[in-house]
Amino acid sequence: MLKERLDKTKETIASSCKKVGRDTNEVELIAVSKTWGVETLKEAYDLGCRVFGENKVQELVQKHAALPKDIRWHMIGHLQRNKVKDVIDKVELIHSVDSVRLAKTIEQEAQKKERIVNILVEVNVAGEESKFGVSPEELPQVVREIAAFPHIRIQGLMTIAPFVENSEENRQIFADLRKLSVDIAEKSIDNVCMDILSMGMTNDYPVAVEEGATLVRVGTGIFGSRDYTKDGVTEK
Ligand SMILES: *Cc1c(COP(=O)(O)O)cnc(C)c1O
Repeated sequence: MLKERLDKTKETIASSCKKVGRDTNEVELIAVSKTWGVETLKEAYDLGCRVFGENKVQELVQKHAALPKDIRWHMIGHLQRNKVKDVIDKVELIHSVDSVRLAKTIEQEAQKKERIVNILVEVNVAGEESKFGVSPEELPQVVREIAAFPHIRIQGLMTIAPFVENSEENRQIFADLRKLSVDIAEKSIDNVCMDILSMGMTNDYPVAVEEGATLVRVGTGIFGSRDYTKDGVTEK
């Protein structure tokens, strides 16, 4: 089952790339493994998955300890400042930096551990009240302020699009995020690179790829429906 879904997801990414003349290698698939136990992740690992996305610090830390060291972990969920110290030395990328305050904590902890931390700035493109992320209006200023932190590298932008029945409804959101990233890249701010666009989930990643996503975050499409009554750590 997992293999079929994974193959199907990769094929879909390839056909979306083809449709708009992109090279498939420009798009990396993140297997969003939240709520799934290490056995399931190991299965995905054995099928070739090396990039996993988690949205809870504790879950990420425990899975990181239990699974092979060549896995690249991505923190994709809202990050509390008091948990920053637990993850910054375990993740390749934090997708969800949504304030200068959070970035400042990352800077302080990164300095203590003598590391450089790669991040994306999360943008609330649709302006949904229930969502985290900086507004498109505040984005340039937030990027400038975070860029001043020497232990942080901004690598691009991330957005979580609204849940919609028809993924075409999110096309403009993805196009808008891409436009924001181009606008910032043009400002050539020191310490800021806009190579990564993290956008698209199970319901809308084909559209996101057509609009320029370089990272897609797919959970259900690979693993099936999540069971939130399990915590993803203790599952046998
Ligand atoms: C859970 C999650 C995903 C994956 O969602 P699916 O709809 O299962 O693909 C992607 N991004 C974030 C930030 C998530 O929390």
